[in-house]
Amino acid sequence: MTTKLLSAQKPEDLSLAAELLRRGGLVALPTETVYGLGANGLDEAAVAKIFAAKGRPQDNPLILHISQPDEMTRFCRSIPQTAWLLAEHFWPGPLTMVLPVKDTVPKRTTAGLDTVAVRCPETAATRQIIRLAGVPIAAPSANLSGKPSTTTAGHVLHDMDGKIDAIVDGGPCRVGVESTIVDLTGRRPRLLRPGGITPEMLQGLLGQLDIDKAVVAQISDDTVVHAPGMKYKHYAPAADVVIVSGSREDAAAYIRRHWQAPNAVLCFEEELPLYGGLNPTAYGRQAEPETLSAGLFAALRKLDDSAIGTIFARCPEGGGIAYAVQNRLRKSAGFHIVDAARTP
Ligand code: AMP
Ligand code: MG
Repeated sequence: MTTKLLSAQKPEDLSLAAELLRRGGLVALPTETVYGLGANGLDEAAVAKIFAAKGRPQDNPLILHISQPDEMTRFCRSIPQTAWLLAEHFWPGPLTMVLPVKDTVPKRTTAGLDTVAVRCPETAATRQIIRLAGVPIAAPSANLSGKPSTTTAGHVLHDMDGKIDAIVDGGPCRVGVESTIVDLTGRRPRLLRPGGITPEMLQGLLGQLDIDKAVVAQISDDTVVHAPGMKYKHYAPAADVVIVSGSREDAAAYIRRHWQAPNAVLCFEEELPLYGGLNPTAYGRQAEPETLSAGLFAALRKLDDSAIGTIFARCPEGGGIAYAVQNRLRKSAGFHIVDAARTP
């Protein structure tokens, strides 16, 4: 199949994208988080194509994207006050809520769970496409399973050319990491994946928030997890990623001791002068963590070269959006972290 390139700026392209989706096709859509690989979330056959195109494990459920908050009532069995409160504050935006599912949603979309993940994305063109399609759009990130997510139409074309009907180009994604996921089906709200809506923003509004263990540690394959996607190897280039923690100077000294061609260095812009001769790649400014989230996946993709043995990576600390960047980078490293000051 030939993958059509459409523009988020052209109304006729939005109509065509909606038509392709209504007819059971696969269309990659721009969102403020990452590009999504969309299909009609109520059409089992269309949803099956998403899993095939990505090579995605069948037990990893999809997020249902809606064009406005009240559409939740069509797909969720019960909606607590907390969900309406979060929707009011953070939708449209980079927040996904897990709620009890109605049987209007096929098992393929939810991977057989009795819950469904829903999100109303910020990108207006994509909400317009969902509205025109008249159906909720199931969409995981538009990358080959296990690879870094896509944050430009070019990334999507690289992974999906010839496998999907169309890509709607809306430019680079503003946030750059996938949505925050909060599970609202338990006694207390639980963070399943950090993202653009930060733990502090959620705590500020809800007063309480549990952090799922899959956020902070490697989960083995046989563990029951709340967000099934969290147990898979994720966001990973072909090379091994090693996070080097510690001060700028200690990290640079460690990396210089261990670097050998053709290794790579992934660092903050402020640190570039420390890595002369090692061909470093910067993914953003440490002082502006939102540039790190916007640049992380593009940098990991640039370094996705089978010739590179090891990528030595610098990782931000702390809360806010840095917490999400740290989570993705740790997962891409399989939680392999060395302390530069204490490791020879
Ligand atoms: P992706 O869009 O590729 O980031 O994948 C969607 C993420 O949402 C995966 O990590 C899924 O495990 C998670 N997810 C989707 N539906 C549910 C659900 N019903 N309960 C918990 N997590 C979910
Ligand atoms: Mg993904």
